[in-house]
Amino acid sequence: MDTIDRSRLGSLTRREQQRFVEAHPTSRALAERARASLFGGVPMPWMVRWPGGFPVFVREATGATVIDVDGRRYVDLCLGDTGAMTGHSPTVAVEVIQAQARRGLTTMLPTEDAIWVGEELARRFGLPSWQFTLSATDANRFALRLARAITGRPKVLVYNYCYHGTVDETVAILRPDGATGPRAGNLGPSVDPAVTTKVVEFNDLPALEAALGAGDVACVLAEPALTNVGIVLPDPGYHAALRDLTRRTGALLIIDETHTFCAGPGGYTRACGLEPDMLTIGKPIGSGIASGALGVSAGVAEQFGALLTEEYSDVGGIGGTLAGNALSLAAIRATLSQVLTHDAFAHMIALGERFTAGVEAVIRASGVPWQVTRLGCRAEYQFRPTPPRTGAEAAASFDDELDRFMHLYALNRGILLTPFHMMALMSPATTAVDVDLHTAVFAEAVDELLGRHG
Ligand code: PMP
Repeated sequence: MDTIDRSRLGSLTRREQQRFVEAHPTSRALAERARASLFGGVPMPWMVRWPGGFPVFVREATGATVIDVDGRRYVDLCLGDTGAMTGHSPTVAVEVIQAQARRGLTTMLPTEDAIWVGEELARRFGLPSWQFTLSATDANRFALRLARAITGRPKVLVYNYCYHGTVDETVAILRPDGATGPRAGNLGPSVDPAVTTKVVEFNDLPALEAALGAGDVACVLAEPALTNVGIVLPDPGYHAALRDLTRRTGALLIIDETHTFCAGPGGYTRACGLEPDMLTIGKPIGSGIASGALGVSAGVAEQFGALLTEEYSDVGGIGGTLAGNALSLAAIRATLSQVLTHDAFAHMIALGERFTAGVEAVIRASGVPWQVTRLGCRAEYQFRPTPPRTGAEAAASFDDELDRFMHLYALNRGILLTPFHMMALMSPATTAVDVDLHTAVFAEAVDELLGRHG
């Protein structure tokens, strides 16, 4: 049953669309110009997912604020889809980055910062041995290679509607007949994902057990809670069972903390006592400077060491000339020591709670059949009445029309939400005033949708 009047939604969206275009003449002109030299008029294809028909062009981003080229100011709850979870250009990190930039950017030699960062990541996440990349995607790619090399097994297991970056094996979907297929939109997969990948639903232990039972799975690559199809939290006991099953069947467990780092200073892994064999992370750890990391257990480090010969260490498929560069490592050190600290997480998580309470109160008072889920300093509302347990359930609640309206409505009132879904993230620079502005705008949007406005 649809509680939303679709014709009202349509006319409200048209009104918001017009308002958007009128308010952004400079962005509109730049978007026109961009069409001549940029494919699709954007630097990356996914930027067309912003609502409004063209993206706003940024003049400046500092703290939790973005100012566009038309001089409009936004509370940024998107934060570069987690790349700027630190807040934009945090002063303490920028000073370190500027100083390092004058002392050398990349040399193919280590700096002392690399050791400090390795020690800090070990302290935070509990895995003793680290390597660096320039993105979370690369960290995941290398983790998969290592898992296959160590186990001698071909397959990777992921969850339905997962996202782990542009990693071929993970752009896969669970088909209704239980087989693996390419996810809609998967462009030119290098091999059919059915060859490389098994897909199961999150929280489905019997399916996981069956998939691992065949003994051909090198690793499970898992976000500890799904965060890329809305937030899907694990059932109580799920992670203990996942760990037990992977150990019993000889599959390595890779935990991708790129987004779930929002759960605390040591991510979900530390907050909930997970024991992965490998851990990957990227995005915010360098305050926006390209950075990523791959941590491994003592056992994996030993097996990796046994496989690695000095002679082939530069052509083994784990690489990146710029990876582990001086600037990236200086930025990670500054971020972990001074920006995404224990105290910062306490502030961010409290704001996540405030955001969730605000949205929840509006949902309850208005009676819309929606719900909001929080993980640390990240929260997301979904157009369904109960929290989803699987990726498929979460995906089924996507409502493009409603999504577009809610994003546009927020954008037109000075709030940026992550474009692909209704997600909000808190940074150390985010304030209670920012969160309360979102709550007020959300309440207004819901009132308008229900025809109760003014
Ligand atoms: N892992 C997860 C869980 C992600 O959400 C993403 C990106 N959204 C990535 C990995 C890939 O990050 P990047 O695109 O920065 O490599």
